[in-house]
Amino acid sequence: MQHWEADEERSRHMVRFGRRDTAPELALRRALHARGRRFLVDRRISSRTRARADLVFPRARVAVFVDGCFWHWCEEHAHLPKANAELWRAKLLANRQRDASHDAALRSEGWVVIRVWEHDDVDVAADLVEAALDRWDRIASRRSERTHPTAANASRAPAESSAGGRPDASR
Ligand SMILES: [Zn+2]
Repeated sequence: MQHWEADEERSRHMVRFGRRDTAPELALRRALHARGRRFLVDRRISSRTRARADLVFPRARVAVFVDGCFWHWCEEHAHLPKANAELWRAKLLANRQRDASHDAALRSEGWVVIRVWEHDDVDVAADLVEAALDRWDRIASRRSERTHPTAANASRAPAESSAGGRPDASR
């Protein structure tokens, strides 16, 4: 406990990343928004878990979590505080297990779960999210053509414009 003050830096870090609307979250939201993607923010999406996804794409059922390096125990950056190291280890391990059980519950309900680290390059993270959305678009359009061969284009058009379905020609 006497080392607690030496960990003041760490405490600030924890406070900063323990809340919503962190800088990395905002950066990813801005990047995807700039690419024409629309999404919900900070939503609980399942009655089976209390997990709140940072970004939610309801139609594609894609849930994105931006994980803080400390709380989610990134192996590159999360060093256990010196004081109470064992307690922190147990706490952070429990966090990781909770993340895994949230993911399993969401996947069992058909969600695509994407976790990116706060340290990830924002464009790489945005690419990852868009790849999942594009995959869903392809599956949805195939399904739509199969079930409604003549109405396929008519029914897809509004959906695509609301999703800002711009092809990735710019990149
Ligand atoms: Zn990290």
